[in-house]
Amino acid sequence: MVVGELAESADLLVVGAGPGGYVAAARAAQLGRTVTVVDRGAPEGGLGGACLHVGCIPSKALIELAGAYEHARRPRVGGLELDGARVDLPAFQAWKRAIVERLATGVENLLAAQGVELVTGALRFNKPDQAVVALPDGQSRYFEFEQALIATGSRPASLAPLPFDGERVLTSTDVLGLDRVPGSLAVVGAGYIGLEIGQALAKLGSQVSVIEAADRVLPALDEALAEPVMRGLARLGVEVHLSSVVVGLDGDDLAYANEEGRGTVPAERVLVAIGRVPNTDDLGLPAVGVPVDDAGLIAVDERMLASASIAAIGDVTSGPALAHRASAQGIVAAEALSGVPAAFDPAGVPAIVFTDPEIASVGLTEQQARAGGFDVAVTTVPLAASGRAATIGEDDGFTRVVADRSDDRVLGVQMVGPHASELIAEATLAIEMVASPEDLRGTIHPHPTLSEGLHAAAARLAPRPARR
Ligand SMILES: Cc1cc2nc3c(=O)[nH]c(=O)nc-3n(C[C@H](O)[C@H](O)[C@H](O)COP(=O)(O)OP(=O)(O)OC[C@H]3O[C@@H](n4cnc5c(N)ncnc54)[C@H](O)[C@@H]3O)c2cc1C
Repeated sequence: MVVGELAESADLLVVGAGPGGYVAAARAAQLGRTVTVVDRGAPEGGLGGACLHVGCIPSKALIELAGAYEHARRPRVGGLELDGARVDLPAFQAWKRAIVERLATGVENLLAAQGVELVTGALRFNKPDQAVVALPDGQSRYFEFEQALIATGSRPASLAPLPFDGERVLTSTDVLGLDRVPGSLAVVGAGYIGLEIGQALAKLGSQVSVIEAADRVLPALDEALAEPVMRGLARLGVEVHLSSVVVGLDGDDLAYANEEGRGTVPAERVLVAIGRVPNTDDLGLPAVGVPVDDAGLIAVDERMLASASIAAIGDVTSGPALAHRASAQGIVAAEALSGVPAAFDPAGVPAIVFTDPEIASVGLTEQQARAGGFDVAVTTVPLAASGRAATIGEDDGFTRVVADRSDDRVLGVQMVGPHASELIAEATLAIEMVASPEDLRGTIHPHPTLSEGLHAAAARLAPRPARR
């Protein structure tokens, strides 16, 4: 290792080892590139990125714990009585840490097997072809690179009246790391992160309230998808205040205001989940001539290139901030930088909200399809028609298929209900393969399964001719 201002040469320098960066690094190494990955590590990242350490995996682990506890206390199936179920959050945290460590080791092994060099430190560009990495021991390493790939992800956005303090006003990272269930939690922001964590804590016994500035929860999603989740929140006793803005802490409470006046909700802890900001402000991007927009996002072309030698992927680019989108972009960027023809042009990026019930969506909604000028056909099959849903004890939800009549193809699928997160993959494949409703209808789906919802919806759009 060279310490000091003498620069080491790097063929491809990847900044950030999240689902974008590590997947890109592995693909580039497969293509024969010599790859160096730099990640600053804890507390918000490391091998596997925010997704593994403080995002997707920790939140899904908490949701699983909360769901199991909820089922134990209020079974949804008949004939079960369970007494004495209790939550041990320190034990949960130890279990979660073990999962995260095991998966991070998997990423490390994958990159090591491809001969990728890993460097822990915070990178900043300082010349058009050079970057400096601040190492944990206070030293620096300099890299002169041929090409660079920026995959530095994002961090929680803060709210002026409620600065994060790590004690009472918390980020999603803080809440996912709690070792005691708070008596009350005020959630600011009814996007997917706020609702996933809010519902989980409600199931674990917190008195949860949600304050949202928009006039409905999950404002980024089609309204019909959010309705069953509103019912789910009501079932859990979560108080939701819409069209409301936060005023600030007020003793033990959080004060908010709306057109009816001012109110308060109990707030032993407050989760501020109003969105995420891209980690581009401290990267020295002017040194490499890569601009950002007002939101701090980097503009890229369909090959994920921000300039001739620099690519950007994942949460630092515009579009849904999702791990699988970052990974898919990572493959495209690695190939494009390595001279392989590639473009990021998916027919649909599936998006999941792991609320109760779950929401999954891919492709166009009815509204988007109509706005796009398609000859739209839509059908919705309620979950109440599913025998499997009845045996699971969860039948609030539906499967909706949006198709283009003229082109006879599926444009979009939305699902609400148990395991929607798993079921959406078939719909994604259908859209990517330009399947028609008849293709889905003609595919035998196993009974009794929740997958029959998609089959039933497609069948309604692909009626078989009656016998003459
Ligand atoms: C609570 C929560 C739940 C989520 N749940 C889901 C989910 O269920 N499904 C889903 O698809 N997405 C989910 N997400 C979103 C998902 O985590 C992100 O979209 C994804 O992690 C983005 O990947 P990325 O590679 O762009 O960046 P990240 O995963 O954020 O990785 C960026 C990496 O860059 C490193 N880094 C940053 N700056 C520097 C620097 N200057 N020098 C060196 N290293 C640096 C960081 O340490 C980090 O490891 C969730 C997010 C949160 C917060």
